[in-house]
Amino acid sequence: MKKIVLLGAPGCGKGTQSKFLVDRLNFFQLSTGDLLRDQTSNKNSKYGQQINLIMKKGDLVPDDLVINLIIEKIILLKNENIIFDGFPRNIKQAEVLDDSLENISMSLDFAILIDVDFKILEQRIENRIKETENHERRDDDNIETLLKRIEVYKTNTFPIIEYYKKKGILRNVDGMDTIDNVSQEILKIIN
Ligand code: AMP
Repeated sequence: MKKIVLLGAPGCGKGTQSKFLVDRLNFFQLSTGDLLRDQTSNKNSKYGQQINLIMKKGDLVPDDLVINLIIEKIILLKNENIIFDGFPRNIKQAEVLDDSLENISMSLDFAILIDVDFKILEQRIENRIKETENHERRDDDNIETLLKRIEVYKTNTFPIIEYYKKKGILRNVDGMDTIDNVSQEILKIIN
């Protein structure tokens, strides 16, 4: 069973490409953003409100919270093809992911980086926000939060690229290409 990490800055198309893999290759999409949003809408969640505030600002939710949420899923989904979307987001999370997979005698097959030009990305984000109606947007889909999320990505998540390069499992795709071409490149890597 394949285990793949999709890496890339906010707005690079990770969510879209994860959904493609779900439809096309029966992958299970494990998105920490979705798991955290479930917590914010669950009134019984002890940390829901705290998580909501952090997400609205575009900061990272504390590692312990995210790691607890994801580890139980990894064990449950042991026998599925998994695409990790939005996790790991820092080196500590990357190490925990390796350890958790090792504990169930598995390892990552690839970390696929959807590579984008930050200047063009920021422009794309601004355009997308201007074109989208208010009620259709996520709480963290505004210019300030998205620019903050890009900064957080550069500081915390960018170093993971080197981490996976050293392990020999990093693959790059050109995220400035069309959605279809990016999907085809990802398929070539996985198959
Ligand atoms: P996403 O849906 O992946 O764009 O994530 C939305 C927000 O959820 C991020 O801006 C963070 O606040 C939080 N988040 C998602 N995944 C993680 C993670 N692995 N570690 C910490 N915070 C996360």
